[in-house]
Amino acid sequence: MVVGVLALQGDFEAHAAALADLGAQPRRVRVPVDLEGLDALVIPGGESTTISKGIEREGLDAPLRDLVATGIPVLGTCAGLILLGREHLGALDVASRRNAFGRQLQSFEADIDFEGLGPMHAVFIRAPWVEEAGAEVEVLAEIDGHPVAVRQGNILAVAFHPELTDDRRLHAWLVEKAKVPAR
Ligand code: GLN
Repeated sequence: MVVGVLALQGDFEAHAAALADLGAQPRRVRVPVDLEGLDALVIPGGESTTISKGIEREGLDAPLRDLVATGIPVLGTCAGLILLGREHLGALDVASRRNAFGRQLQSFEADIDFEGLGPMHAVFIRAPWVEEAGAEVEVLAEIDGHPVAVRQGNILAVAFHPELTDDRRLHAWLVEKAKVPAR
C-alpha cells in the first residue's frame, strides 16, 4: 500500500514514520506524477500559504482535486485541514480560522475526546479551528465548542498533529480505509 504525503513544506518524516509503523509505504508528493497509483494521501501541517503557493507552482491543484474526488482516503492535519477546505482545494466543506487559538496559545497540548475513538492526547501548533461546516461534515472532536476534527466521506481532517505523538489511530484509520476500495 502506497500512501502519498504532500512534501512541499512541512512534516514529511514524522508522517512517513507513522505510516511505516503501520506497514504502509510512504511516498513524497512534490509533482503531479507522484500522485499516480496512490492508495491514500496525507496533507500535512506547515504553513498553508506556503504550501498553497507550492501547489500552484507545481501544477498540483487540479490533480489533487481530481485524486481526492476519486474517493481515496485522505488525512489532513493542521495546515492540511485548511488546504482541504473551501478556501483552497474545496474538497472539505469547511471554512477554517487560521491561528485560531491566539497568541497565548501558539502551541499547546490537550486531551480531547475523539468521536468513535475515545480520549486522545493532541498537539496543537498555531492551529486552526473549523469556523463553519456544511451539512455533510461530521464533527469528531471539539475544544471549547470549536471543531478540531472533522470527517466528510473519505476525508478526515484534524487541527492538531497526530504524527507528533505515538498514537497511530488516525493514520491507522487512513490505512484501514485504503484497504477497502471506495465504490
Ligand atoms: N498556522 C498554520 C497555517 O495557518 C498552520 C500551522 C500548522 O500546520 N502547524 O497555515
